[in-house]
Amino acid sequence: AQVHRIAVIPGDGIGHEVVPAALEALEAVAALDGSFRFAFDRFPWGCDHYLETGRMMPPDGLEQLRGYDAILLGAVGHPSVPDHVSLWGLLLPIRRTFEQYVNLRPVKLLRGVTSPLRGRGPDDIDFVVVRENNEGEYSNAGGRLFAGTPHEIVVQESIFTRRGVERIMRFAFELARRHPKRRLTSATKSNGISYTMPFWDEVFREMAARYPDVATDQFHIDALAARFVTHPHHFGVVVGSNLFGDILTDLGAAIAGSIGIAPSANLNPERQYPSMFEPIHGSAPDIAGKGIANPVGQIWSGAMMLEHLGHPRAGRRLLAAIEHALAERGVKTPDLGGSATTREMTQAIVRSLDEVPDP
Ligand code: NAD
Ligand code: MN
Repeated sequence: AQVHRIAVIPGDGIGHEVVPAALEALEAVAALDGSFRFAFDRFPWGCDHYLETGRMMPPDGLEQLRGYDAILLGAVGHPSVPDHVSLWGLLLPIRRTFEQYVNLRPVKLLRGVTSPLRGRGPDDIDFVVVRENNEGEYSNAGGRLFAGTPHEIVVQESIFTRRGVERIMRFAFELARRHPKRRLTSATKSNGISYTMPFWDEVFREMAARYPDVATDQFHIDALAARFVTHPHHFGVVVGSNLFGDILTDLGAAIAGSIGIAPSANLNPERQYPSMFEPIHGSAPDIAGKGIANPVGQIWSGAMMLEHLGHPRAGRRLLAAIEHALAERGVKTPDLGGSATTREMTQAIVRSLDEVPDP
């Protein structure tokens, strides 16, 4: 059988609970399929490592990851480590060094899950957000002068490059072309943000001219956020900058039932470097250690990894098993209004693998 070498970074908090759940589900899918198997290598990096060594990962951490077929990450973040330290010490260097410039985030209401939006079902909420993942508002460029004085000035730059915006737009248009709705919506704010966002809009229009078969529209980010709530059925593919995509997808996760469900793929589409798969939620210190974290976001991220590794049918089967566990078995963690533990939810999904038809 083909062997996929996966670097596994559970990270912090509930990462230690949901990552083992995903490994169990992935092993079960591989055993059913028979044509491939996994070799998982674990890396104990994150905030505990930081508190011991002053670094989120070893100095050669990125070199250690480079040769893997993919990276499966839980989450990072710890109450006694500043969030910008954990983010810039691990997650952002991986995304940037490996040019994972696409952050693909499905917003899909699964069967068996209730949306907080009244009367909305799975047919109404089924779209995908393409978040720019390498530049934009998440920059390290800026400065702080006269700290603590009445004259204090703080500046943070946003950096948008033609190469960076063109490649995310191209990816989004290609995806929209294959999406049933054939619609691409762009998140902008070109009224208030007068350099970067008009540029973003300009590249969007240039690219739209090359994809006449894709319907396009754009909304200011504030109006777009409202539209996620009022018209979720409108959307096919949504493209947004690093910050806008981040905010929109927590909202997307909320309308799809829970932040504990939502998956993501950090893709290097050219496949020069490993891609990374992680749920969109964080380390959830408020529930860490209780055994009640929803493992679905992590397991679904594993399903996206299967697709990336060339096993789309196995990925669809795993997602079908997740839906079967939620809808037919009715097993749900507390964030979804149920009382199942992480373990019970995981077992229900693994058992459901046998009951769903091979898609
Ligand atoms: P969070 O996603 O960790 O938690 C937000 C809320 O959602 C909490 O109430 C939490 O209990 C709940 N929640 C999240 N995941 C859940 C799950 N799987 N099952 C059930 N409930 C779940 O966001 P936050 O509280 O803003 O951040 C906590 C820490 O995580 C911070 O240190 C932050 O920097 C970090 N963080 C990391 C990532 C990442 O690693 N990619 C992403 C977001 C936040
Ligand atoms: Mn986020």
